[in-house]
Amino acid sequence: MIYFDNNATTPIDPRVKEKIKEVLELFGNPSSLYPIGKKVRDLIEEAREEVASFIGAKREEIFFTSSGTEANNWAIKGVIEANPEKDSIIVSSIEHPSIIDLCKYLEKKFKVSYIPVDRYGVVDIDFIEKNINEKTAIVSVMHANNEIGTIQPVIEISEVCKNKRVLFHSDAVQTLGKIKVNVDELGVDLLSGSSHKIYGPKGVGFLYIRKGTPIYPIIHGEQEKKMRGGTENVIGIIALGKAISLLKEEKEKNQKVIKELSKKLREELKKIDGIHFNGHPEKRLDSTISISIEGIDGEALLMALATKDIYVSTGSACSEGKEGPSHVLKAIGLSDELAESTIRISIGKFNTPDCVNEFLKTFEKMVKELRAIG
Ligand code: PLP
Repeated sequence: MIYFDNNATTPIDPRVKEKIKEVLELFGNPSSLYPIGKKVRDLIEEAREEVASFIGAKREEIFFTSSGTEANNWAIKGVIEANPEKDSIIVSSIEHPSIIDLCKYLEKKFKVSYIPVDRYGVVDIDFIEKNINEKTAIVSVMHANNEIGTIQPVIEISEVCKNKRVLFHSDAVQTLGKIKVNVDELGVDLLSGSSHKIYGPKGVGFLYIRKGTPIYPIIHGEQEKKMRGGTENVIGIIALGKAISLLKEEKEKNQKVIKELSKKLREELKKIDGIHFNGHPEKRLDSTISISIEGIDGEALLMALATKDIYVSTGSACSEGKEGPSHVLKAIGLSDELAESTIRISIGKFNTPDCVNEFLKTFEKMVKELRAIG
């Protein structure tokens, strides 16, 4: 199998699997006072410390959630609820559906401004400056985009927000472990992460909340200092902690491998006629290659590759099954035709030079065949 859909999800690292097997034996409720509860509680706190230290936060600023999606929903809904005097929010037009769909819903009650992006997918900071005011509850701009890999000028955006005393959230689901994520350097008040994009299991994520940020819970209950109710996903949280500890140890090594594979893929893909690269030429994640291929239906190519056990995506995994071309590709100005001719190759730490060579061979052949059929 050649798996080039690591932005959709990553395989669980075998060492994380081992950790999961170990903790399956621990059934105590972390809220219980007796020792088997305390043991589990301690492991959760160790995982919290791993996450916090990885992003330059304090342990008490990390709150575990069921996903990146929940973290994104919580950041925006929770801030709005805690700041009833505010009446508007500003988000980029290329956010993940967990933000965009929420904002569409919130439009019933709130003014939502969608920041346009240029043809490379970089947000227009002037737009933020023009639209932000004392009534803005929150600005949310993702650290890097899941479909085209463009990295946003998060530091500059946070300066604009700070000057206006407006809270700033960034979705770092696609950047953790790939580029530096440090909450103080980025200047964020809130930041989302997800375990299954970093070789951990699905169904667990976290929200970083800077100390003192006015935010309400969206799931009420005793756990997570009453900020996120629900008996903890103990296995998921501990596995997330392990996945993060591996990122810490192997970040440079993984980044180097991915950079080399990405370089080779790009160089070879460039040689094929009628291929357009999407995203910023430099300010982008090495791991994400989005290409539009003239004369090809992206979905047909994806299915043809899948018959050879090669896996890529047409856009974002989460948009699979949605009608029409991706909102991200539309926002960067692609025609419907080119947007539908787009595939995303996303590289992960388990890919090898052999995967790249094999992929390129099959890819070229299939593009030729599909073009011949017309
Ligand atoms: N944000 C981004 C940028 C993503 O790519 C994804 C998943 O594709 C999410 C949020 C959602 O994370 P989760 O799958 O944990 O809900």
